Amino acid sequence: MPEEELKEQESEQQACPLCREKTLILTERETEVPYFGKVLLFSMTCNSCKYHMADVEAADQKEPAKYEFEISREEDMEVRVVKSAQATVNLPHVASITPGPAAQGYVTNIEGILNRVKYQIETARDTAEDDEDRKKAKNLLKKILNITWGKEKQKLIIEDPSGNSAIISDRAVKSAFKVKNAEK
Ligand SMILES: [Zn+2]
Repeated sequence: MPEEELKEQESEQQACPLCREKTLILTERETEVPYFGKVLLFSMTCNSCKYHMADVEAADQKEPAKYEFEISREEDMEVRVVKSAQATVNLPHVASITPGPAAQGYVTNIEGILNRVKYQIETARDTAEDDEDRKKAKNLLKKILNITWGKEKQKLIIEDPSGNSAIISDRAVKSAFKVKNAEK
């Protein structure tokens, strides 16, 4: 997580939706993301069962948006990314992070996105039942390493119907997000 959090508010402990113990801590923080604005970070953490949820929301109302960015060099790892729980993150031919009940929102950078995807693929590798799936995962991990080092180019697409996500770079291409069934 970034260090520049401005304010932090912790509430008294509440009942956890998972284990029902009164050990759930809700936190709300505010951070400023350059060229995007003020962002509220929410999180819930249970000290008993380790349940954790987090999400982000722009302080100003945003339009549904799609961001595309080509990762092409090592310095791109530092590019800031705001990803809400409603966003779909797509690295074509590598992996994607989809919205859903377990989806989380966070402020990170491209390296942080790649680390999460790497973790997903490592889990897939470790639970793979046949050699082919294991080999496929290994190749993807190699590809991610090359992307991290700027040796291989990779497109990153983030679509968010809530508008609470962004890729902060002048090389990021922003367009209006269209709901799929509205397309011709
Ligand atoms: Zn719990």
